[in-house]
Amino acid sequence: MTTDELFREDASLSACRATVLALAEGGVILDRTVFYPLGGGQAGDVGQLILADGSRIEIVDTRKSKEHPGAVLHLPAASASLPTLAPGTEVTALIDWQRRHRHMRFHTGTHLLCALVPHPVDGCSITADYARLDFHMSEPLDKEALTAGLARLVAEAHAVRHRWISEAELDANPGLVRSMSVQPPRGLGRVRVLEIDGVDLQPCGGTHVANTAEIGAVVVTKIEKKSAMTRRVVLGFAEPDTAGPN
Ligand SMILES: [Zn+2]
Repeated sequence: MTTDELFREDASLSACRATVLALAEGGVILDRTVFYPLGGGQAGDVGQLILADGSRIEIVDTRKSKEHPGAVLHLPAASASLPTLAPGTEVTALIDWQRRHRHMRFHTGTHLLCALVPHPVDGCSITADYARLDFHMSEPLDKEALTAGLARLVAEAHAVRHRWISEAELDANPGLVRSMSVQPPRGLGRVRVLEIDGVDLQPCGGTHVANTAEIGAVVVTKIEKKSAMTRRVVLGFAEPDTAGPN
């Protein structure tokens, strides 16, 4: 039982038609979805499952299934009633696009930070209100210089795209893996890499905007020395969110 993860190929989808495969682990497994499950530091999506009669089930988090590898769990609010969701039920899966678009802007921004700070990453968290990236390094970082670097890369409007490479190709280029804590998933024969034209290239399964210009005004709000060998960079939006394409 697996879920076709539509966001891997097209992160701009906010809704899709889908069929219920099963109820498991307190959640709903669909045959396909636009909901991103918590992973790689990026928060799981929230949204709604809309039934044929127009009733809506609020989804408060999305996780990868432990019982069914490859399946995505849509977790309802505790109060939601699920008994009507028999396998085979057709639904429309609709994410909270404004929240997800903030994740995409921040997530792409963390790739820009990786280009500006040439050190391994040993932690990452991406939410709708902030993103933080931990770099394995002892040198100090300058908040204003990083903010200016981000602004430059955003203004330069670099194209962002993903492609799939073979595991053999990845093994031949170990420098591609920037993260010490998150190794790309193995055993599928291929690995998804995210390329920001002329800026950054690394394996990543998350959701990103299509061009760095879409990130908008992101600033470094804080730099913390978490340990002798860890510098934490926190990103925030400089202005209230402007709604995405939907
Ligand atoms: Zn990414």
